[in-house]
Amino acid sequence: MSRLRLSQQHTLQILQLIRSSGSISRADVVARTGDSPFLISKVCDELLQGEFITEAGVGESTGGRRPTLLSLRPGFGRLVGVHLGTVNVRIALTDFQGNTIAYIKDLSHAAEGPDVAMNHVIKLINGMAESHGLIPSDINGIGIGISGVLDRSIGTTLYWPKLPRWVNVPVKKILEERYQTLVVLEDTSRTSALAEVWFGGAHAAKHFIFISIGAGTGAALFLNGSLYEGVGGFAGEFGHISVAEKGPLCSCGNRGCLETMVSASSLLRKARHGLSMGLSNTLTKLSHGNPQNITLELLAQAMREGDRFATRLLSEMGAYVGRATVGLVNLLNPELIVIGGGIASAVGELIHPEIERVVRESAMVQSVKQVQIRMSKMEEKDWARGAMLLAAEEALSNSFVKWSESGRAKASAVPFSGLKVRKSNATSVSELTPGTN
Ligand SMILES: [Zn+2]
Repeated sequence: MSRLRLSQQHTLQILQLIRSSGSISRADVVARTGDSPFLISKVCDELLQGEFITEAGVGESTGGRRPTLLSLRPGFGRLVGVHLGTVNVRIALTDFQGNTIAYIKDLSHAAEGPDVAMNHVIKLINGMAESHGLIPSDINGIGIGISGVLDRSIGTTLYWPKLPRWVNVPVKKILEERYQTLVVLEDTSRTSALAEVWFGGAHAAKHFIFISIGAGTGAALFLNGSLYEGVGGFAGEFGHISVAEKGPLCSCGNRGCLETMVSASSLLRKARHGLSMGLSNTLTKLSHGNPQNITLELLAQAMREGDRFATRLLSEMGAYVGRATVGLVNLLNPELIVIGGGIASAVGELIHPEIERVVRESAMVQSVKQVQIRMSKMEEKDWARGAMLLAAEEALSNSFVKWSESGRAKASAVPFSGLKVRKSNATSVSELTPGTN
């Protein structure tokens, strides 16, 4: 930003305000910035002429004429969001606004090691770019969420529970070198939480906790409106709250961590064991007696059909999540808790009542009155869009700078290729302002 003249820096700030608002009237831009209506009108006209923004619909009237709303121009910019999980990878190609241009889900091959998995990610991104007429350097930025433990300052994995080959993998560097563009790395709990904030309506909550339960378990804590990261960035390891003193050994070295009791793999292991013990006629029927056929969806179906074993298994799981959630409610007094991740997608509505019951019964009454607990309605595609958000703010700034330096023709006419890789410390999750789109 320092390469811009002062007035251009100001124009960029207003552009970012429009992005983070989703859509906003000129009067609201005036109110939010304290600038004169004349100046804002001039700046907005410039951004309209540059084709950064568009006039999109009309807002609520406050008495007079209904105001025209400004938003980023749909179709402007190309961002990639990657959600790299233990089993699956989801990749979305979007514009700066987060509108999906293309989406793909495939096996992540994470268990086969970083070389195989990262090459696969690159192959998928290239295929997606190619089928939309883009060359790799057209990509304005890549945000990638990984289900491992990370060193965010340098964009590497520290380790990945259960996947021993992912120690110190320079994921950010690998993608930067390949695409010569901005790359930002985060863990998948936080990128999914971002999706919930931007696309799922959680932006209205100032004290919001996102819990992700899938192959692993994690949480993202938005306190006072911004992400709480902790001194080393490791805050949110919700899965390693101990809920069963003599429970199974966890990847962290402790016993009975929540993750070992509620993860997808532990649930399936218990279901398969139950099947072999002849505990469920419904599961036997649905799986044709083969334990390997048991999936979360099958377990959910068995519960819906009134199977007592499946019901007990899922209720037990809900109770464990509930117990750990009681701690969060008492400690942080949040207004909204959203539970997402693979387990929530598959069996969320079935475990929700038990979570609710345990929290209502056990947490402090004052905090219970104020908290709303719900299951995420985000689709898997949105997880990848959440990762894209990591790069959105800085990528838009880069495009603006390039446009300013190129003599300010239309932004859409400025070729995207050749963007310099800049240090990405300007965009951390905590600085992203929730929007309404
Ligand atoms: Zn643990």
